[in-house]
Amino acid sequence: MTRDIEIFNLIEQELHRQEHGLELIASENFVSKQVMEAMGSVLTNKYAEGLPGKRYYGGCEVVDVVENLAIERLKKMFGAAWANVQPHSGAQANAAVMLGVLNPGDKILGFDLSHGGHLTHGSPVNFSGKLYKPSFYGVEPDSGLIDWDKVEATAKKEMPKLIICGASAYSRDWDYVRLRKIADEVGALLLADISHPAGLIVGKLLNDPIPHCHIVTSTTHKTLRGPRGGIIMMGKDFENPWGLKTPKGEPKMMSAILDGAVFPGTQGGPLEHVIASKAVAFGEALTVEYKEYTHQVKRNAHAMADAFVSLGYKIISGGTDNHLMLIDLRNKNISGKAAENALIKAHITINKNMVPFDDKSPFVTSGIRVGTAAITSRFMKEADMGNIVTLIDKVLMNADNDSLLAEVSKEVNQLMEGFPLYK
Ligand SMILES: *Cc1c(COP(=O)(O)O)cnc(C)c1O
Repeated sequence: MTRDIEIFNLIEQELHRQEHGLELIASENFVSKQVMEAMGSVLTNKYAEGLPGKRYYGGCEVVDVVENLAIERLKKMFGAAWANVQPHSGAQANAAVMLGVLNPGDKILGFDLSHGGHLTHGSPVNFSGKLYKPSFYGVEPDSGLIDWDKVEATAKKEMPKLIICGASAYSRDWDYVRLRKIADEVGALLLADISHPAGLIVGKLLNDPIPHCHIVTSTTHKTLRGPRGGIIMMGKDFENPWGLKTPKGEPKMMSAILDGAVFPGTQGGPLEHVIASKAVAFGEALTVEYKEYTHQVKRNAHAMADAFVSLGYKIISGGTDNHLMLIDLRNKNISGKAAENALIKAHITINKNMVPFDDKSPFVTSGIRVGTAAITSRFMKEADMGNIVTLIDKVLMNADNDSLLAEVSKEVNQLMEGFPLYK
């Protein structure tokens, strides 16, 4: 077969973009070569519907070992009793959990998308808002923090079947102990979606949801630094609360319900090449080097937040406990959209983001979200953060000056030469 030059040239172009740019999108990271190698392997050729040892296809001896290794490494990382590594993405993991524990029309309670929540936590444009009846909690206008008393009041008023905690743009930690108390009081199950901070939880830098939440979902490609994908875990397996029985008449365990909700509930054949890649990433995450990486991610985020504040930028909640921060640009007279566009011209990638109580549309927005997971994988340190924030400020204060933006892009390219990727 002739080589597909068209596509491989584009992949080269994308590598060049990644190598020379400053990557501050909070949900992105750079995986290791071996994580990529596993993804590009012959395992993509294999059908393996079902679970290790219980497949609907022959020839699964090898992928069974691969998938079991992924599961065991993941359980060890989080101290979980049960895990499913098959969800194709974070959204698929959440879809499977909701299919497993809810009936259409059931009530759910999640963190407001416009305050930093995720589409799959009840947004009207998402399955979670179309199939279930969502209500939301948010942050306080002054503090930018979640008021747990208000979450409790909303839960008692709405009586949801499922309470979801976790976010895509919240820079503070979660009180899982309090949330579990609230869930128990209203008879709800508690789901923590740790897609963003998962790596920092592995690094023991944030509260641990595993002992307190009934179910935990995550992506594997954000701070966890694995391939694009999802996972579901439980700290402890438990009998389903609805009295469902197995064919043998025994109580059906939640693990069986969640496994069934992934396949056949919401997915077909698992991506064993991606599962192998997840296993490689989990192996990496169990090392001392990865732990040190997560500490550096947090230190860098701290340093970056301090640098922004010293230049008069308004960070929602005033700072960060994790790897990201949400910046309200209204006092700087530039929209999130204009900021994103100007920064891209300077080869700095961030994303525009709604801020709590935003008066602009989701296509314009008043804010930007930045994170340190990716630049820390390139070994940038606290001392580099001030430099980066100075560059960002220069761009935002001169967003219409194309020649200045071109100059900054050269500075960025030069800076990144010092932090090689895949060399
Ligand atoms: C990123 C994210 C997801 C979705 O992950 P995908 O892999 O893009 O589907 C789900 N929940 C939260 C909180 C996220 O931040």
